[in-house]
Amino acid sequence: MNRRSLEYEAVLAAEYVLAEADIAPGARVPIFDLIEDRGIWLCFDAGLDRLLGIYQRIGEATGIAINAARPTPLQRFTAAHELGHHELGHTSHLDTETTISEPMHDPQEIQAQAFAASLLMSELAVEVRLEHRGHHPNRPELGAADVYLMSAELGVSYLAAVTQLRVLQKISSAQARAFAKESPLQLKQALLGGRRPDNPRASVMQFTLADNQREVVLDIDDEIDVALPEMAASGHEWTLATEPDSAFGVVSDRYRQSESGAEETLFGGSKTRHITLKARTPGRSRLDFLPLRPGETTESATPLSIHAVTCAPPVSELGHGISTNQHHQLLSPTTT
Ligand SMILES: [Zn+2]
Repeated sequence: MNRRSLEYEAVLAAEYVLAEADIAPGARVPIFDLIEDRGIWLCFDAGLDRLLGIYQRIGEATGIAINAARPTPLQRFTAAHELGHHELGHTSHLDTETTISEPMHDPQEIQAQAFAASLLMSELAVEVRLEHRGHHPNRPELGAADVYLMSAELGVSYLAAVTQLRVLQKISSAQARAFAKESPLQLKQALLGGRRPDNPRASVMQFTLADNQREVVLDIDDEIDVALPEMAASGHEWTLATEPDSAFGVVSDRYRQSESGAEETLFGGSKTRHITLKARTPGRSRLDFLPLRPGETTESATPLSIHAVTCAPPVSELGHGISTNQHHQLLSPTTT
């Protein structure tokens, strides 16, 4: 089979998994859950050194081990790669940076890489994300920050997103080379108005009024920057209404110069307030931003609501061992 046919088979296998699991197009794929749902043992190990992941099949037992010392997006991509070996009926594999990011000759590695990219960033998912951000799905005009934000929302690394956008022909090879030179940390800092995220490895997402009622999936320490326009003349001010046991903490709340100075004068001194929140604990939260004029009640205001789902880490605080869910299953008494 040539490379194209191998990749095509892998893309179909990924599409089958997405359809079977009924994952909404454009949503972050719950890769660890997909592995657990198949009864595959899922382990995390911080001592794998140069290995990123392992897929092992011994008789009836199947296991996947993930290098827990690497950043979460890379752990997710590795997990998707190992699931690819499983779904495509491959033999056991020990995977390094090379076999996962740029497989050259091994047909099974080429397939697992294509499977992982298509599972986490399917063509449909990428197009949905592009449209959400106001881009044309087939001819998007993207900057590095757009690519970064898409990678954060899909839960993949910036470089993985650059590669997949080139594979899907949403960007040219020249654009891909230029984007690959950008530092993800600097892109995050730029999105945060110059502030470094508290955890340099955490993802940064940005929302505006156009994102009302959006659902976002994130990990602990990830930061959400919400841009809220304020009109000085109208006297209204945004208020963040959060639950008392806040699962999110405000890490920054300040006004920023809008990028086009012309707009500011046109609307009589409008400015943009940026409230940045950091995910603290796992669970579901609704973040309501209410524009209030003095004396106004919350009922009459139109809020910006964001539905946030913060994922629990897949493994215990020790950072290694069997996945938390499987650990609980082992400890709970069987009911049959
Ligand atoms: Zn592999």
